[in-house]
Amino acid sequence: MQIDRFSELILSANELVILSHTNPDGDAIGSVVAMKRFLTLQGKQSTIIIPNKHPEYLSFLDPDGEMLVYKENRKRAENIIRSCDLILALDFNQLSRIDELEPIVRESLSHKVLVDHHPSPEKGPFDLVFSETEISSNCELLYWLFNSYRNGEMPLEVAEPLYVGMMTDTNNFANSVLASTFKMASNLIEAGVDKERLQHLVFGGFNESRMRLMGHLLSEKMTILPEFEAGFIMLSKEDQERFSFSEGDSEGFVNIPLSIKGINISALFTESEGVVRVSLRSSNDFSVNKMARRFFNGGGHERASGGKLFIPFDQVADYFMESLNICIEEYRNEQI
Ligand code: 5GP
Ligand code: MN
Repeated sequence: MQIDRFSELILSANELVILSHTNPDGDAIGSVVAMKRFLTLQGKQSTIIIPNKHPEYLSFLDPDGEMLVYKENRKRAENIIRSCDLILALDFNQLSRIDELEPIVRESLSHKVLVDHHPSPEKGPFDLVFSETEISSNCELLYWLFNSYRNGEMPLEVAEPLYVGMMTDTNNFANSVLASTFKMASNLIEAGVDKERLQHLVFGGFNESRMRLMGHLLSEKMTILPEFEAGFIMLSKEDQERFSFSEGDSEGFVNIPLSIKGINISALFTESEGVVRVSLRSSNDFSVNKMARRFFNGGGHERASGGKLFIPFDQVADYFMESLNICIEEYRNEQI
């Protein structure tokens, strides 16, 4: 029934907008690009709008630079959202995840569909919600959705961005990989996806300064707290300037402390304009989603979450350790 409704909404729409979250990652960009290509095959024109620019390493998914970046073209993006008749929101569970676009989307009279894999999605603004949390990525959810819609036919131009989202959200098949994920990977490779090429484009194109930044952070800016089974990395403005940091260079850094024996919780703090960006990960049942919601103005998945802090960067480590102290105690009590 949901697929039928999805199909009806698409067929009856003339101006479609595809949206994803702020600081879009591989799953967000994979999702919007796959959706746009899927719609084109149905004879539907659409516009992708993202709140801010994606990291450079994902540019190959948008070779003609067709994505509209709200921060670079506010008026045009606003006008398109105001006049469209269908909004497809992908890979986010709360409209607050699109920042300044939130009120414009809320006020839009268009139909709205959400496809997402985060816990507790905001359902109110949407006519139709596809939500599944027991899945590797939003791209995997789209894969199964497109599969039901198209009876298994998966053109390569749709398969490729879906593969990228699944590969990046699982941290290259390390986390949140289920039997269905391998099934999807297998089917996409059969559909013609060149996995070595995508692997190289996503994980093999880093520049020298990014590698040196990683070395510097691991040597000088990573703190390990064995008593909390935790580790964290501080990425300051100063280090960003010293190593010519650009968006996407820190991709994967937050996972590194988890490969230390006995470490199950990890954090990366990135100093930014007026805000500290927070990334949290865990490799056991400790819920970083709970921690992000309670202490870091954010949320996400149980084992991968993020948020923001509005305190001076030099106070962040103490704040993290205090919040960790509280969360760990609660977690240990729950285990008894
Ligand atoms: P990352 O650490 O890769 O930036 O984000 C990890 C996860 O946390 C993502 O799945 C993302 O949806 C979620 N997340 C990141 N930043 C925020 C935020 O500011 N608010 C909320 N609610 N979730 C976030
Ligand atoms: Mn995702």
